[in-house]
Amino acid sequence: MQLIQGKVIADQIKEEIASEVKELVDMGKKRPHLAAILVGHDGGSETYVAHKVKACEQVGFESSLIRFEDNISEDELLKKVQELNNDDSIDGFIVQLPIPDHISENKVIEAIDPSKDVDGFHPVNLGRMVIGLPSYVSATPSGIIELIRRYNIETSGKHCVIVGRSNIVGKPMSILLGQKTNPGNCTVTLCHSRTKDLPSVTRQADILIAALGAPEFVKEDMVKEGAVVIDVGTTRVPSTETKSGFRLKGDVKFDEVSPKCSYITPVPGGVGPMTIVSLLRNTLLAAKRDVY
Ligand code: NAP
Repeated sequence: MQLIQGKVIADQIKEEIASEVKELVDMGKKRPHLAAILVGHDGGSETYVAHKVKACEQVGFESSLIRFEDNISEDELLKKVQELNNDDSIDGFIVQLPIPDHISENKVIEAIDPSKDVDGFHPVNLGRMVIGLPSYVSATPSGIIELIRRYNIETSGKHCVIVGRSNIVGKPMSILLGQKTNPGNCTVTLCHSRTKDLPSVTRQADILIAALGAPEFVKEDMVKEGAVVIDVGTTRVPSTETKSGFRLKGDVKFDEVSPKCSYITPVPGGVGPMTIVSLLRNTLLAAKRDVY
């Protein structure tokens, strides 16, 4: 079994991005600038945004954090999105999800200028990705593809089973691995909560991607010998062993499953750090106008 060390690869990619930023600055260009809108005080969102801001500093980007209380109206939030769309000093921005229920997530996503949508959630970016045009690809699937590429994991002709069909992870992942590209050329099965006899499907996977958000859901008897297992899940569970009072659990029961795998990602230190560097990569592309 080989551990896929997302944290190590993410650190390498950060160094690559930092040297590209240095080149831009040496040429007299401005530093890439990522803005994040955070609504409310959800613990998970606070942590994710703090990591993103820190990662910006590490690679030499500028970053702006724009905070709102969770009683902000939909109109006010949409106004801020328009402001960022029109602000030439900002190359890309994200609205950290989830947002409060009284605000339509789709309306907010659709209000973002696709050329600044570095999360890759806008329908224009998703559509362009589906037909193979340059686009910002959603950060988590893009990070997983990069891990597969850097570990030279063969995907062509393999059966990839994905559990979870969210718009930000499962669905785009299924498209990317089914495309006529390398990595890609997989035969893909996309599973969800209505899938019948899920273990019989996951056992057929050469590559199993668990993205459902149920801690330690994937057990040893759900995995084929020699499979590649990518664990996207990050559920915060209470813990007396950490300062914060919680720790992150993946969707895979690591101790049971890992001896059967050819490759497996840990949680934490697997997919999570790659999600952040993919966001940085998209912001760099935005600053260089490489997509639009
Ligand atoms: P989500 O919107 O929470 O949706 C969960 C998906 O899993 C749905 O498609 C659901 O099916 C399916 N599902 C739930 N229970 C299931 C079960 N028992 N059997 C089969 N399918 C089941 O998904 P998400 O936003 O992609 O998040 C999934 C997990 O990934 C969460 O733990 C999240 O925190 C984590 N995540 C991590 C990163 C990272 O950077 N590491 C990034 C994004 C998300 P239905 O569609 O039928 O309801």
